[in-house]
Amino acid sequence: MESFIDRTKVADDLINACFIVDDTPVNATYWAQLQQSAAGYDTPDTGWATRWRDMAPASLLRVKDAERFADMIEEFGIRGKFTCLPCPAALGRVDQAVRGFSDDDLKRILSIIRDRIAKQMDITPEVLTHTQPYDPETGARLPHAETFWLTHLCVTGQAEKLRAYLRHAWKILSNVGIRARGLTVGGMSDFSGIAQGKSLACGDGRDVLGEALIAIEREFNPKVHASFIYTGAPSYTEEGKRKRAPETVFKAGDGAVVHELQSIVDDPIFPVILGPCDVVAKTTDALISPGLDRGLLVDEAESGRAVVFTVHCQTLVALDSGVGLDIMHEVCRRLKERYGKRLVWHTALELCSAIGV
Ligand SMILES: [Zn+2]
Repeated sequence: MESFIDRTKVADDLINACFIVDDTPVNATYWAQLQQSAAGYDTPDTGWATRWRDMAPASLLRVKDAERFADMIEEFGIRGKFTCLPCPAALGRVDQAVRGFSDDDLKRILSIIRDRIAKQMDITPEVLTHTQPYDPETGARLPHAETFWLTHLCVTGQAEKLRAYLRHAWKILSNVGIRARGLTVGGMSDFSGIAQGKSLACGDGRDVLGEALIAIEREFNPKVHASFIYTGAPSYTEEGKRKRAPETVFKAGDGAVVHELQSIVDDPIFPVILGPCDVVAKTTDALISPGLDRGLLVDEAESGRAVVFTVHCQTLVALDSGVGLDIMHEVCRRLKERYGKRLVWHTALELCSAIGV
């Protein structure tokens, strides 16, 4: 159904919103630590990686959780950005087979993403694996963190290798009927030191990434004139900061633009990554209170910023308890109750075109 709202002319009293989901269809926290430790590197048991070994039973997305997510975005008309990893945790390619998923479950998850979620969200690769880089030529897994391998390719100007990497992602997703738009770069640490202190997540090399991204998207659709990246790099303009607006990171000679999304930094449902732990109500209310008058997302909306937040496959499924999904369902219900039609959900590209700077 077409919306009647002209997304390029959002009135002052409307609240722009964008719902971001990263890491699907695996628990990237678990797999990144597991493979890093198998490669002989220490893995810290802090922050996101606290008790990462306990996440083993919930290391892959279940079909029923993917279905519940699609139900939720359809119920509330939510739009945003959703990751589909082409080679999740390097366990295989989604257009072939992925170790741990039955062929049937993989097919069902992909059809939920393609036939339901993609109608309301831009589907991005989060490069290929979100663990270690996968060499498109040989199929080898390289002994680095993928984010920093990409940073290395960008800052050392290895444009052909960078394009081959992105092309592989687009090709795999297009083989399963998904036309990827935009690119997410996963949060990781540079355990091998390949990037020598540089990081896409600090903005290093992202103009090079933007240029390669437009080129690859055009190989699959020559009409592409805009795209976006999401690396977690902080805002660099006053206006971007004030509005939580996507910011330009690359402009081609013909006017094509690549923006960087800006989101609330911390995953607001991170407290349930290891299951309910008695914090479900507290985590829900911290986003928007039962009286609808307080909470992080209310503060964002009332301050005139776009309401842009990021959750993860592993925080939604919350150790296969599903409480992350419960929380977000209730949060979206409360947001709708408070703001009604003033709340305008955008895909990432729609947000860029509505308020990008
Ligand atoms: Zn991620």
